[in-house]
Amino acid sequence: MESQFYTTLTEKSLKNEMLSREECLTILTDSTIDRLSLLNAAYHVRHTYFKNDVSIHIINNAKNGHCPEDCKYCVQGQSASTEIADYPMKSDEEILEEAKQAHESGAFRYCMVFSGRGPSKKRVERLSRLIANIKSTYPIEVCLSPGLINDLDAESLKSAGLDRLNHNLNTSETHYNKICSTHTYEDRKNTLNSAKKAGISICSGLIVGMGESNDDICEVLSELHTLKAASIPVNFFIPLQGTALSQVVNPISSLTPDYCLRVLCLARFLNPKSEIRIAAGRELHLRSLQAFGLYPANSLFMDGYLNSLGNSQHHTLEMIKDLGFTIKSDMDLSQLLNKTQKTHSEPNSLELKDEEKLRPKQCQPC
Ligand code: SF4
Repeated sequence: MESQFYTTLTEKSLKNEMLSREECLTILTDSTIDRLSLLNAAYHVRHTYFKNDVSIHIINNAKNGHCPEDCKYCVQGQSASTEIADYPMKSDEEILEEAKQAHESGAFRYCMVFSGRGPSKKRVERLSRLIANIKSTYPIEVCLSPGLINDLDAESLKSAGLDRLNHNLNTSETHYNKICSTHTYEDRKNTLNSAKKAGISICSGLIVGMGESNDDICEVLSELHTLKAASIPVNFFIPLQGTALSQVVNPISSLTPDYCLRVLCLARFLNPKSEIRIAAGRELHLRSLQAFGLYPANSLFMDGYLNSLGNSQHHTLEMIKDLGFTIKSDMDLSQLLNKTQKTHSEPNSLELKDEEKLRPKQCQPC
């Protein structure tokens, strides 16, 4: 591939110009792409807006359990037969304590995730009170992943002080009916638009490896560009046993570390100023190339995902330090490394989290 191709990608991205579909597909599939040149072009954009900072997120399940929706990738969905730890919404006291611990650990943002289709009016009122309470007590950003919401819900959450709302598009509109039948892509987009209308910053991402085409990946990343998502988690599908999708697709054979890096680079080029987060599945699919992912991406999840384990905190922090990157936190990277423990056997991201991990007593910086 001519060196001009990489220069053009950087230039267009820095101008926030949409790449052509042909350019997107070339990034994902062309065998003459030179990996280091592509990473270097994406890193140039990442460095312009985020320097060498890495922001670390830790998922905090505020409610976990079987859900009436049938998202076929999810262990909590109605079509999954996986045995998981169910629990209702944590108490207000428990959530407030976690927000306090997050603040005291130097966290920039406190994030709450709820399983389920979406909150009732009563739940929105309760969440609004909780958010207002957290915001008036601690100088911390609050992010919420509540499921589907409407304009009124969004206004109420915004008035309470909600800073960011997470709701993933997950895949393209074309592919959506293959991964869920209980709600539509349009429903998901409406939720994001309600949040935007209310003035809440949005976090929305995708899951790669669910049997989609390269065009689907280009489509969803272009949609996130149009939606101006401030934060984009890029998940690589973890085929947890018992999920409907794990019976029909095998991402372990279809996703290579090289392809995952290409997706992260494309996410960066199309969304130059967004926080691109390497989310679930990095251990499984990027394998020995995990560290390279932080050249296009500037954020990652640490300490596992919603229902599955991942690399230990120590391993993740060590990787960031070895790269010579810094973390976006009040805490110093070396201080955090000293606080965490080196383990000889790393948790496997195909293993389910147990109850203790799902309801951690200590919240970490995110
Ligand atoms: S992704 Fe969310 S809405 Fe879909 S099944 Fe899982 S918990 Fe329910």
